[in-house]
Amino acid sequence: MLALTCVLTIPRYSPLGMDHWLSLRVIGPAIAALALAGCGSVIPSATGGSSAGSGAGARSGASSGATYTRNAPPRVASAPQSAASRPADTACISQLGAAGARFDALPDTYAAPGCHILGTVQLSALAGDASQFGISNIGPVQCHVASAFGDWARFGVDRAARQILGSPLARIETMGSYACRNVAGSNRRSAHSRAEAIDVSGFVLEDGRRITLTSDWDGGTAAEREFLRVVHGSACKRFGTVLGPEYNRAHEDHFHLEGTGSSFCR
Ligand SMILES: [Zn+2]
Repeated sequence: MLALTCVLTIPRYSPLGMDHWLSLRVIGPAIAALALAGCGSVIPSATGGSSAGSGAGARSGASSGATYTRNAPPRVASAPQSAASRPADTACISQLGAAGARFDALPDTYAAPGCHILGTVQLSALAGDASQFGISNIGPVQCHVASAFGDWARFGVDRAARQILGSPLARIETMGSYACRNVAGSNRRSAHSRAEAIDVSGFVLEDGRRITLTSDWDGGTAAEREFLRVVHGSACKRFGTVLGPEYNRAHEDHFHLEGTGSSFCR
């Protein structure tokens, strides 16, 4: 059986600021697939793509089949594009690395009509003033949204947690980011279909407390309710669209954080 290999060198960033030149290796099973795609973007079958996001928390398989190898020779060939290969995205990725985030740049993927993962990263940790925060259940996110998310976590959430609740932030819990689906009750694709939104469901503090939208937006202590409203307000300054429990019942258990630019806040 024929097996083809495309290799693309992309930088990987660590919180220590080191750039490691790694190789992204994608092995295609047949020459026909390579000829069709030009060894370009990863184009899974319609069946595989539609299964990638049937719900809000669905995670993408964008990185499946890709492996990262240290110290590979600097071979450059046509290969899946990633956020590291376009100048605007490269600038965003540099900024994200400088902000102390831990992440991998992901290859571009077209999953289904209206569903794609272009210029995205997989976040694994964010940096605060004095510590790092984990992020649970997140998938691919467009770099500019990931950057806003990192700034919000540090300057909005962590500082509010310390000032209002007396403990630093340890982890942000999400219900996912990329999902190939429509806006509920419409035939319009959701921003989640472009990996341009994150659904945040709760926060875990270093002292072990867990504050969730479901339990604490209305039912928490006065300090917990204030904390959730303060972080909602700070999200509105950094993201383009922010929807929460006051918007509708579909958002009573999470904040929907979409795009950048501060235009719609409920
Ligand atoms: Zn959402």
